[in-house]
Amino acid sequence: MALVQIENVSKTYKTGDIEVKALNDINLAIEKSAFVSFVGPSGSGKTTMLNMIGCLDKPTKGKILIDDKQVDIFNRQKRAAFRGQRIGFIFQSFNLFPVLTAYENIEYPLVMIKNEPLEKRKELILDILDSVNMLNQKDKFPDQLSGGQKQRVAIARALVTQPKLVMADEPTANLDKESSINVIRLMRDMKDKFSTTFIFSTHDPQIMEEAEITYNLVDGKLS
Ligand code: ADP
Ligand code: MG
Repeated sequence: MALVQIENVSKTYKTGDIEVKALNDINLAIEKSAFVSFVGPSGSGKTTMLNMIGCLDKPTKGKILIDDKQVDIFNRQKRAAFRGQRIGFIFQSFNLFPVLTAYENIEYPLVMIKNEPLEKRKELILDILDSVNMLNQKDKFPDQLSGGQKQRVAIARALVTQPKLVMADEPTANLDKESSINVIRLMRDMKDKFSTTFIFSTHDPQIMEEAEITYNLVDGKLS
């Protein structure tokens, strides 16, 4: 059984009288430990697709199974709990807490979601900081770090809860070329190391090349 199964999924947004079909009858399956990208121009439905798989929103039609659970029928509360237990997120604008150090940013989901005791937290955080090669920057605040370093902290934060799936919507959009390649390769190394499935979006041709599987979206359809 695939980790992610998408069956006949459509998503329509309604704003007043205007309807936008952001996703149009999508079918696909993503296996465990895959490194997958959704590519396409602005407005093609990448964010909508990632929001469906990441259980941030639900489809208007169709079925989504993640880890054998049918998530499209979940209410908001169930989706939030499911995300907390199984899905990590990496954002375009890093979304680190500015008043927390790198270490404390990574600690946050362990306290909020996993409720891990102090000693266990410390072990997990130091381990993952080492994996993303940021151990020597652990006491720095986000504004003392470069964009690439911030995204490495964000990758560590997404992974520290040991999720099955990590979602990253345009994770390199705010990075220069060199940092972008480094960040995407770090994600792939982490995929190899932890067998976590990574699903990201990009419209950068150089970043697309790093993916193992690519889905092209055009006007909400796979092409
Ligand atoms: P991408 O991430 O590829 O730029 P999106 O998934 O953000 O594409 O958007 C796909 C389409 O859905 C676009 O036409 C966009 O304007 C529309 N859309 C996205 N989110 C909303 C929303 N919350 N309300 C109304 N329309 C939306
Ligand atoms: Mg987008």
